[in-house]
Amino acid sequence: MISQSQWFLKWLLPTIASALVGGLLLGTLYWAAANADQVAAARQKDLVTLIVSKMQASVAHDQESATVWDDAVIKTKAGDLEWLGTNLGQWMNTYFGHDAAVVLSPEGLLIYQFIAVSDNAPSADDLRESYLPLARRLRGRLSAADQEGVSDTVLSIGQSDLTYVGQRPAIVSVKPITSDTGEIEQRAGEENLHVAVRFLDGDFLTEIANEYQFAEMQFTVHEPQDKSHSQIPLKSASGRLIGFFNWHPFEPGLSVFYATLPVIGLSVLSIYGAASLAGRAIRKRSVRLASSRQELQHLALHDSLTGLANRAHFERELTSRLESALPQDNLGVLFVDLDRFKAVNDTYGHPTGDKLISLVALRLVDLLPNALIGRIGGDEFTVLAESYEFQEVGILAESIVKRLREPFDIDGAHVVVGASVGAALATGGLDAVELTRRADIALYHAKAAGRNTYAIFGDHMDDLLRKRRRLEHDLRAALERRAQIEIFYQPVYPANSVLPCSLEALSRWRHPELGLIPPDVFIPLAEEIGVIHEIGALVLEDACSMLADLPSIDVAINASAVELGSPGYPLRVLSTLAKWGVEPNRLEVEITESLAVSGEEQTTRNVEMLREAGVRLAIDDFGTGHSSFSRIQNIIVDRIKIDKSFIQDIAQRRSRAVVEAIITMARAQGLDTTAEGVETDEQRDALILLGCDNLQGFLLSRPISRGQVVALFSAGIRAPETARGGIGY
Ligand code: C2E
Ligand code: CA
Ligand code: CA
Repeated sequence: MISQSQWFLKWLLPTIASALVGGLLLGTLYWAAANADQVAAARQKDLVTLIVSKMQASVAHDQESATVWDDAVIKTKAGDLEWLGTNLGQWMNTYFGHDAAVVLSPEGLLIYQFIAVSDNAPSADDLRESYLPLARRLRGRLSAADQEGVSDTVLSIGQSDLTYVGQRPAIVSVKPITSDTGEIEQRAGEENLHVAVRFLDGDFLTEIANEYQFAEMQFTVHEPQDKSHSQIPLKSASGRLIGFFNWHPFEPGLSVFYATLPVIGLSVLSIYGAASLAGRAIRKRSVRLASSRQELQHLALHDSLTGLANRAHFERELTSRLESALPQDNLGVLFVDLDRFKAVNDTYGHPTGDKLISLVALRLVDLLPNALIGRIGGDEFTVLAESYEFQEVGILAESIVKRLREPFDIDGAHVVVGASVGAALATGGLDAVELTRRADIALYHAKAAGRNTYAIFGDHMDDLLRKRRRLEHDLRAALERRAQIEIFYQPVYPANSVLPCSLEALSRWRHPELGLIPPDVFIPLAEEIGVIHEIGALVLEDACSMLADLPSIDVAINASAVELGSPGYPLRVLSTLAKWGVEPNRLEVEITESLAVSGEEQTTRNVEMLREAGVRLAIDDFGTGHSSFSRIQNIIVDRIKIDKSFIQDIAQRRSRAVVEAIITMARAQGLDTTAEGVETDEQRDALILLGCDNLQGFLLSRPISRGQVVALFSAGIRAPETARGGIGY
């Protein structure tokens, strides 16, 4: 579809531009033309007026060529009609174009008369009527010897006027017939008179029209109504209106104007063309701009790695869909969180992590081609599900979990992650914030339920959330008062000894109402709310004091990833050791496998600093981090703690083989080994057989309080019966 601005650029801009320039050009030219035509029309009127008055003068002048002539005086007196006919009638008609001629006696009697033959020749009476007043007046002037108007070119006085002869307008001129030599004496007022008539219609019009290029020249009695015609009124000397000369005026301006029209048309066309070209250029640019704007917009709305909607875009879309949703639309939100993404990232590096995220996105899109899918965090995805009933959402969530549990093939590596999914359905006009919160809570529950599973939000979850909030609040309060956190110690024994060689410090939270809360619950909570450093510091302090109290034993502490990644950690450890006057090599810091191989700069630096100072390091829960042996070989630690899951299954061949491989590998590297979670004699015997250095587990001792530790060492024997098997922490 063509957009409004495109339409404007394509059609409207050239049209407006050419219309504007064309209009301006036409307007100016027309105005100039009309002005020129007005001037021309005025000139033509002046010219016609001049022609008429000249004609009037020339009729009188023509007359004098015959009337001021001795022969004429003589022949008139003699009444030589033939002569008169030749010289004063016929001759003047053929030579000057006079239409009628009359010779009158001093008494006013008709001596001779000539009327040219034509369709509407006047009658003698009409003729007489037209010249009599003029003849009378001239006779009077002649009697009075009036010489007004006589000059070098006008030889005799005369009377001339514009008047009607019958129905026709004409110049009627009367002159006396006088001697040209002055040799024939005539008494004043006794002269014969000569009348000449020249019609102003007919031939006269044709003549002047031809001579002066007047178009449609005509005489009308009444004022013509055609406004496009020019006209001048014809008036007698007394001011009587005779009629009008009118003609189509010469319009040089308009002719030029019309002549230039094609040129103007061409100009307008070229302007249209130019504007079209300009419009197209602008259009192209704006299309380019629009597409780069679209790209920018896409970038602003989408995650660059996966092309999925980003958090802001997802939230905006969710809000708008919820606002316009009907109850039957059954909107739902699913939060998808990869379970082991961090471990993969740490183990294989960020490029592999990025590829994994892209592949996860592809699987989600493949599973839900029409749904809005967003990536809202490193390994967190969101799905806007439409038209799903409660049970269907469960099926959908399960299919996502199942799909993401399948291994990913990345550059030859077989990567298994798995995902937890939390879902919430929009019921009863929930807004986006609440819906998101519910999905988040459901996700939290899915993770708490052991990961690789899904949970759909139910009201009971809110209760759990409230409990969690309370726990957070209580933990902060406890740490502020440095109360309720207790440190227990689980003894670790050399495989063949009844005397413990070391202790692992394990923290507990003795909640005044909820009782003893295990570290599996409150350590992740402390990490999340940022109080893990306080707990770490408490444990470190207690451990060092224990080391100071019992010079014959070593102590291990657990370091969380958050602690080990913070710049101040080594210094805190070393200064606490120094404070209690304890040799650093009596302290062992247990770090997780994924942390050990993470390659994270600060963590690596901290590990190096600690080791340089003499502090020993152990990899905890070894075997669960999916690290390959070759990678582990590059990490400089002192001990490997084999995860209890392998020990528990050591009766099985596979687990036994793994444990054996770990011990062999560790020995080859010169590392010590500790087996955790030893619960049975069979397990202990198997481990001794495999050559495991140290054993730790309920079979030997549960984690015990500081008081029990002191009692243990003063007894110098294995943990008291009470600490083995069932009792203890
Ligand atoms: P972990 O480091 O693997 O600690 C050993 C855990 O295994 C302890 O659980 C211990 O009670 C338990 N355990 C020992 N022997 C057996 C056995 O024979 N069978 C079984 N089933 N379990 C046994 P605990 O004390 O609940 O600690 C759980 C985890 O919490 C610890 O695992 C450790 O990762 C973390 N943790 C405990 N205290 C701290 C602490 O102060 N700081 C940090 N960062 N983490 C701690
Ligand atoms: Ca540990
Ligand atoms: Ca462990």
